[in-house]
Amino acid sequence: MRQLIAGNWKMNGTAAMAADLVGALAAAGELPCDLLVCPPATLIAEVARLLTGSTVAVGGQDCHARPSGAHTGDIAAPMLRDAGATWVILGHSERRADHGETNEVVYAKVLAAVAAGLTPIVCVGETEAESQAGQQAAVVAGQLSGSLPEDFAGAVAYEPIWAIGTGKTPTEADVTAMHALIRGRLKELLGPTGERILILYGGSVKPENAAALLALPEVGGALVGGASLKAADFLAIAAAAQA
Ligand code: PEP
Repeated sequence: MRQLIAGNWKMNGTAAMAADLVGALAAAGELPCDLLVCPPATLIAEVARLLTGSTVAVGGQDCHARPSGAHTGDIAAPMLRDAGATWVILGHSERRADHGETNEVVYAKVLAAVAAGLTPIVCVGETEAESQAGQQAAVVAGQLSGSLPEDFAGAVAYEPIWAIGTGKTPTEADVTAMHALIRGRLKELLGPTGERILILYGGSVKPENAAALLALPEVGGALVGGASLKAADFLAIAAAAQA
């Protein structure tokens, strides 16, 4: 399976910025991985239009658990699909922290995403305090069993919260250990499908550390925040993927 390099633009981006960034990605030529960009909802349709005919996929950063209705300010999964998205990030730590999203909420969103034809990337990861208390394995195992339905067929992103946007990353040994743990848990929860789920690493991935992180066992790609906003950095990360 090819590695997936996914860019999470978060609450950043204008039409002009998207045209420049996506234009550079579409022109990049052959890469050793698959590419996905997840712009804010306002730009999904435009980015999908700009990427028509390219292999770069488009995703949302969240969706509601209901397919439509009276939920002011929210975006439903069928609306993302209608705008041209084929993926959606769910349960990002910023959603869990800023919007109180529990594992149960994430689970319901996964079902909604799949029903709309989207592939979910479910984010898991421990806080700094949980890491210092040695609780990361239990926290991540609980997030996986609480957030994933038993027929889950999307991707998982391991994102230690203390590594997001901080420039800090876990040691290679810690990433290896956590990805092995996640793989084991996925096999327990999903059976043989658990062997094939891509497990992305996320948290301060940059051109300087991408090759080392992407070469680790069970790392199936990267979820990239800050560095996905600069085409040169995002493409340098993609070029570091394992062919
Ligand atoms: C993220 O928010 O998913 C992320 C990994 O951010 P950054 O790369 O900026 O740490």
